[in-house]
Amino acid sequence: MTPDSRLALARSLDAEDPLASRRSLFEGHDDDAVAAYLDGNSLGRPLKATSARLTEFVRDQWGGRLIRAWDEDWLQLPQRVGDRIGRIALGAAPGQCVVADSTSVLLYKVIRAACAARPDRTEIVIERDNFPTDRFIVEAIAADRGLTVRWVEVAPDAGPTLEGVSKALGPDTAVVVLSHVAYRSAHIADMEAITRLTHDAGALIVWDLSHSVGSVPVRLDECEADFAVGCSYKYLNGGPGAPAWAYVAARHLADLSQPIPGWLGSADPFGMGTGYQPADGIRRMVSGTPPILGMQALQDMLDLLEEVGIEAVRAKSLKLTSFAVTIVEDLMGADGVQIASPRAPEERGSHITIDHPAFSGMISELWRDGIIPDFRNPHGLRLGFSPLSTSFEETLVGIGSIADRLRSRGLD
Ligand SMILES: *Cc1c(COP(=O)(O)O)cnc(C)c1O
Repeated sequence: MTPDSRLALARSLDAEDPLASRRSLFEGHDDDAVAAYLDGNSLGRPLKATSARLTEFVRDQWGGRLIRAWDEDWLQLPQRVGDRIGRIALGAAPGQCVVADSTSVLLYKVIRAACAARPDRTEIVIERDNFPTDRFIVEAIAADRGLTVRWVEVAPDAGPTLEGVSKALGPDTAVVVLSHVAYRSAHIADMEAITRLTHDAGALIVWDLSHSVGSVPVRLDECEADFAVGCSYKYLNGGPGAPAWAYVAARHLADLSQPIPGWLGSADPFGMGTGYQPADGIRRMVSGTPPILGMQALQDMLDLLEEVGIEAVRAKSLKLTSFAVTIVEDLMGADGVQIASPRAPEERGSHITIDHPAFSGMISELWRDGIIPDFRNPHGLRLGFSPLSTSFEETLVGIGSIADRLRSRGLD
């Protein structure tokens, strides 16, 4: 393609994009110093509405209602926002999702709860290339409880497959822990089939949906998933350190035992009683005081997602990653840049990783110049496309800058 035809293509895709107008709802979308933000999958941009929400929160709720707000609203907020995430993005009926701690802490709580539900089994299965926190927590829980970790091998440009998981599963598997969308390659695991396989082996499954929630629709109830956990600062634009959420299928709630029995997940928090009695339902996943301030921004993104619908978001995401692949191949294919993500659009989430040895030194220059992808070892650039805030032209500008830099290095 010529430079003109690439630009014409990007502009025509923007012109026919039904979500294009939503981009201006985000803070910084017209910031000249950031020509391409390709990392909304790590930290989503704030919505403009969030400034007003935060100001009002401080003034009217925190400042106006003071401690009365706990009774009037805040104590219920973890479940109310959890139910909304479940309905809008996860295919989860009410009463199964709650917003609480960080993703890491919720993974710990949920995996321990799953292990406790399979007390006679001795193994935990996890993919070799899962996100570090997932692996570290699984290894720590295994060491604590005397369990063995069984690793699912995965190709670097893919993720856990049915076949790979079946090799690691056995009669001793207690729990399987997998990412639905792989953080590096964006590979989408077959949730329905892998969940069924896990159940056939008598084990339980924990899905990490950090890179799915808000960009790739999931159907937790229909797939009969047992547990799930995910971030809210990625595609839910909750802001740095926004709390994560957990899903526990209703059928597990009555007997669920989680390892951090705090007072606000107990049956009668203000009774100040002697022994811990868990609250009914998903509330028992809560430990300490819920991070109310941290749950504000993500509610604006939930409003927007609810309005446009997750299917429309996915439709744009498919077009964005396909366009990105086309441009990467056109501009950098001949330089030996590899696409380290699934080739079929429907098999990947909303980012792609591109690999080249020269990328390892490039990220600080790119960031300095307002081109903001992410770096993933050993020499991958991860390009994330947050469908509601990323345009096709922005995608072209970002990839074009990477290509320019790659070429100028070759000439040095
Ligand atoms: C981003 C991410 C996390 C982050 O965990 P935090 O505790 O929120 O830092 C965990 N797992 C996966 C798969 C992620 O992509």
